[in-house]
Amino acid sequence: MTMELGEDYPEIREAVARICENFPGEYWRRLDAESAYPDEFVATLTREGWLAALIPAEFGGSGLPLRAAAVILETIHASGCNAGACHAQMYVMGTLLRHGSKSQKERYLPAIAAGDLRLQAFGVTEPSTGSDTTQIKTRAVRDGDHFIVDGQKLWTSRALQSDLMLLLARTTPADEITKRGNGLTVFLVDLTEAVGKGLEIRPIDAMINHNTTEIFMDQLKIPADSVVGEEGNGFWHILDGMNAERILIAAEALGDARWFTAKAASYATEREVFGRPIGANQGIQFPIARAHAETEAADLMARKAAALFDAGKHCGAEANMAKMLASEAAWHAGDSCFQTFGGFAFAREYDIERKWRETRLFQTAPISTNMILAYIGQHVLGIPRSY
Ligand SMILES: Cc1cc2nc3c(=O)[nH]c(=O)nc-3n(C[C@H](O)[C@H](O)[C@H](O)COP(=O)(O)OP(=O)(O)OC[C@H]3O[C@@H](n4cnc5c(N)ncnc54)[C@H](O)[C@@H]3O)c2cc1C
Repeated sequence: MTMELGEDYPEIREAVARICENFPGEYWRRLDAESAYPDEFVATLTREGWLAALIPAEFGGSGLPLRAAAVILETIHASGCNAGACHAQMYVMGTLLRHGSKSQKERYLPAIAAGDLRLQAFGVTEPSTGSDTTQIKTRAVRDGDHFIVDGQKLWTSRALQSDLMLLLARTTPADEITKRGNGLTVFLVDLTEAVGKGLEIRPIDAMINHNTTEIFMDQLKIPADSVVGEEGNGFWHILDGMNAERILIAAEALGDARWFTAKAASYATEREVFGRPIGANQGIQFPIARAHAETEAADLMARKAAALFDAGKHCGAEANMAKMLASEAAWHAGDSCFQTFGGFAFAREYDIERKWRETRLFQTAPISTNMILAYIGQHVLGIPRSY
């Protein structure tokens, strides 16, 4: 196991940063105002192969390690762009890769790698159960060579920009299972077939432009061969992919933190008030410096988590801690940047308020900070459980 320090994967950083130069703040501000999807940005990343980074070469991807994917996402965010529109493809695909049948992988992965199929929607969260995923209510009942699905999902991002959705549903009633977490199954739902035939997608008007939706399923009929992995073990299959997701989200938060810090440091040096640069005042300088130190520390944890993941070792604690520390470093960097820019931070043309709204998400999704603290307290430190 090795963990590189400094600017690893310089060629990836350079190539991705070059793409991002063509998508300046103006582009993202327009999409934000219109709640529109960054089609052109995603198409460019797809065309250049970056979204297929984690798909093995035998299925048409580049088979890079998770750390390389983290570098791609960090660079996107450090350049002022946002990967939220397409990052899910990287980790949602992991469930199919690890647990899908040979024929599912052969059918879908090459098309996903080529950009002909989009697997970007991940239907797990439900309105009534929230963070307690084991208690989800969406029900899938076997009916010959089909399943009939009824239920509702909330915050299913990118469903309107996806051909396929990974869906977690209950296949054994909650009162018949012996172990918490059992009785759930992962399905790969063909949205192009399902929409209008038992499945409805409604966009949510949200604080950030994340193309997120709620999904209603009423007697939705899906083929039995859409089960991914083992029936009844879906919760564990989804859990398997969560470390990768947390490491990748940590990378995005680190990118945001670096964007905020670079912007704040530069403005603090240029802007003169009372006859000297505002950054010479410790009230401005120290929060920026502190956020930088937090970012560097979170970066080390994120690299450790990725190195463990890529070596096939346990990384649950590190992946969770990396995501929590990086999201907090980004928030503190955002706050110091906001304060440094004074009133200008409120003007949309500086992109600070947009990035600030966007980076707040990382403390809530894909898992909220309290759930990570509970994991560390209960699973790492062995303190009694609260749930
Ligand atoms: C923009 C956006 C995009 C999203 N995209 C997706 C997606 O694509 N797919 C998907 O499935 N989900 C998605 N989510 C959902 C997201 O994962 C959840 O919002 C998140 O996991 C928190 O769940 P909840 O909102 O139900 O909060 P709740 O579970 O209701 O929790 C509310 C608060 O209470 C705290 N809390 C709850 N229980 C405890 C406890 N025992 N101890 C301490 N604190 C506790 C939580 O930490 C949280 O702060 C998205 C959410 C957002 C906002």
